[in-house]
Amino acid sequence: MGVRKYHSRASKVELVKGRSAGQGDALPSRKGNAVLCDFDGTITVQDTAEWILDKHADGDWRALDELYVQGKLGLLECMREQFAMVKVDKSRILDELDESIIIRNGFPELVELCAGHGAKVVIVSAGLDFVIEHFLKKMGVRDRVSIYSASTVNESGPIGFRFPQLVIPGSITFKDDLVLQNKRIGYRVTYFGDGMPDAEASSLSDHRYAVKGRRLESELAKRGLPYVSFEDFLEILPSLEGILDISK
Ligand SMILES: [Mg+2]
Repeated sequence: MGVRKYHSRASKVELVKGRSAGQGDALPSRKGNAVLCDFDGTITVQDTAEWILDKHADGDWRALDELYVQGKLGLLECMREQFAMVKVDKSRILDELDESIIIRNGFPELVELCAGHGAKVVIVSAGLDFVIEHFLKKMGVRDRVSIYSASTVNESGPIGFRFPQLVIPGSITFKDDLVLQNKRIGYRVTYFGDGMPDAEASSLSDHRYAVKGRRLESELAKRGLPYVSFEDFLEILPSLEGILDISK
């Protein structure tokens, strides 16, 4: 959603280096590995929801972002109101995104690596489900990953949303809720993200990857949590393989 524009204001921080697997201990997990990955800004370079709002919102969607940032509006309400301003049908949105959105290199290879190690991959996103589905199919990985996201409703007319229900008491968002759900049943969780909506989920995970120069990176540094920064999934495959190997 649009609020992610606030997250790009982060100042550059020193990268945390020297721990190739990123973090955590080397104890095996009881259940196996879960690799959770944000979509907008992480798998894609740009934020697709913000791109759509910039182009098609008929109203001041940025004012709603401001209310969200100030804590005066919840995330779900914010997104509902923003996307009620979009009156363009889904197929046209997808055609336009195809022309403009850049996919970060190497995600299919990451999925392949995880499959080879028996690790599950889940996309966890507050973005648009039909956009996520579209790009995963385009990359040829749709059948190998799960999606945990807001569900869009209404095939015609304004786009509406439903968010996943929180399961774990004390969860803040459905992203950190999903991390805790997986940890509760014994998965070792590795999290990939880029923005502040990933901060809690990433912090609670066993291993963390943060897109270089984005807001999540500076937030993890501020919290003193180890992470690996990346710009391209291919560059982190060796370190991810190390995690998957030790965590079986
Ligand atoms: Mg993101």
